[in-house]
Amino acid sequence: MVFCLTSEGEMVKKMVREFVENEVKPVAAEIDEKREFPREILGKMGPLGLMGMLTPVKYGGAEMDYLSFTVSVEELARGSATVAAVMMAHNCLCSSVINNFGSDKLKEKFLGDLATGRKIGALALTEEHAGSRLDIIDSRAIKTDEGYVLRGAKKYVLNGAEADVFIVFARVTPRGGGGLSAFLVERGVKGLEIGKPMGTMGLHGAGVASINFKGLVVPEENLLGGSGKGFEIAAYAWDNLKIGVAAMALGISEAAFEESVLYVNQRKQFGQVIGRFQAVQEMIAEMATKIEAARYLTYAVADKRSRGEKIRREAAMAKFFTAEAATEIAKKAIKLHGGYGYIKDFPVERFARDAWATRIMADPPQVQKALIADEILGYEEYKTLKLVEGAK
Ligand SMILES: Cc1cc2nc3c(=O)[nH]c(=O)nc-3n(C[C@H](O)[C@H](O)[C@H](O)COP(=O)(O)OP(=O)(O)OC[C@H]3O[C@@H](n4cnc5c(N)ncnc54)[C@H](O)[C@@H]3O)c2cc1C
Repeated sequence: MVFCLTSEGEMVKKMVREFVENEVKPVAAEIDEKREFPREILGKMGPLGLMGMLTPVKYGGAEMDYLSFTVSVEELARGSATVAAVMMAHNCLCSSVINNFGSDKLKEKFLGDLATGRKIGALALTEEHAGSRLDIIDSRAIKTDEGYVLRGAKKYVLNGAEADVFIVFARVTPRGGGGLSAFLVERGVKGLEIGKPMGTMGLHGAGVASINFKGLVVPEENLLGGSGKGFEIAAYAWDNLKIGVAAMALGISEAAFEESVLYVNQRKQFGQVIGRFQAVQEMIAEMATKIEAARYLTYAVADKRSRGEKIRREAAMAKFFTAEAATEIAKKAIKLHGGYGYIKDFPVERFARDAWATRIMADPPQVQKALIADEILGYEEYKTLKLVEGAK
C-alpha cells in the first residue's frame, strides 16, 4: 500500500515543520534541562489548531484525520519529544475520549477550552499493581445520592502535574458489580491530590505524576458513556495512544538520524569524513531502513483509524516496532557521535532518553508481542491484557 498524504495532510506537515524549526527546536534543550512544562509553546500551538486536532469544528477544534494528527506528532517529536508527548496525550487520551464518549453537555463544557489549549487534558488508568492489566484495577467508585465517590491512586499520568481535566478509571462497587467505568474529573475538586512531577529519565517537563482520589465526589453527569463502559473507553484510548506513541518514536528516530547524517559528513578522522567508513555507512543504512519501515507501519495504522477500521493488532505492531527502532536508532546516533554522543552539548543523548519512554508508554514491548501473538494464535490469555474488545 502506498501512502500519500492528502493536500490537507501535506499542508499540516509543512506548517508543523516550520513551527518546530522556529519555535520548538530552539528551546528543546532548555525544556529538557529545566524540566519545565512547555506552557508557552502550547499557548502558540492552540491558535494553530494543534491542541484540538481530533476535536470537531463545532466545538472549536480542527477536526483533522488521524494521518494528519500522526504527522503532526511526528514533526513535533523531531524537535522535542516532550512537546509531542504533551500534545499527543492531551488530544488522543482526553479530548478525543470526551468527544467519543461524553454527553453533549460535557462536550460543550470542556472541548472548546481543551481545543484552544486554555485547559490541558490527561488520562489516568495505570495503578501500582495494575500496569498492563485492566481486570485488577483497584480504584473504587461508590454510587451515592451526590454522585460517585472515588478512592484510589494512579501512577505515571502524562501531563498529570499540570492538567485541568482528567479522565480517570475506577471500578464501581461492589467489586465487579458495575464494572470498570470512566469519569471526568476537574482539577481543584476536593479530594483530588496531584503529585509533583516524577523524576523521569526522559520526557523532562511532560508533567508525569501520580494522582490520588481521597473520597472525591464526581457528579453523575461526569460519568463517561455509562456505568461499566470503562473497558471500551480504555481500549479506544489505548489504541489512539499506540498510534501517537508510534508517531513520537518515529519523530525521535528522524531527529537522531538527521543529526547523525550531519555529523558523519563533517567529522574527519584519518584524513576523511567518517561517513566514508564502511561500518559507519552500515549504521546509516540500517537507521534509514528502519525509519522507512516504521513510517509505513505508523501511517498505515493511522490511515486505518481514519477510515474507522479495527486497528488493535496493527496498533500494537506499529507501536512495538517503532519504539524498538527509536531506541536502537538513538543508540546508534550516540555511537556515531563518539565522545560527543555522551555530552549534553549534542542532542543525541536526549533522544536516547526520550526514545526509551516510547517503549513503556501504552505498555511495554513484551505486552504488545503477547497481544499480537495470542490474537494470531487464537489464545485467550490476551483478553486479560489491555485491551481487547469484549474483555471485562
Ligand atoms: C513516560 C510514561 C508515560 C505514561 N503515561 C501514562 C498515562 O498518561 N496514563 C496512564 O494511565 N499510564 C501511563 N503510563 C504508564 C504505562 O502505561 C505503564 O508504565 C505500562 O503500562 C507498564 O506498566 P508497569 O509500569 O506497571 O509495568 P509492569 O506491568 O510491572 O511490567 C514490568 C515489566 O514486566 C514485563 N511484563 C509485564 N507484563 C507482562 C506480560 N503480560 N507478558 C510479558 N512480560 C510482561 C515487561 O517486561 C515489563 O516491562 C506511562 C508510563 C510512562 C513511563
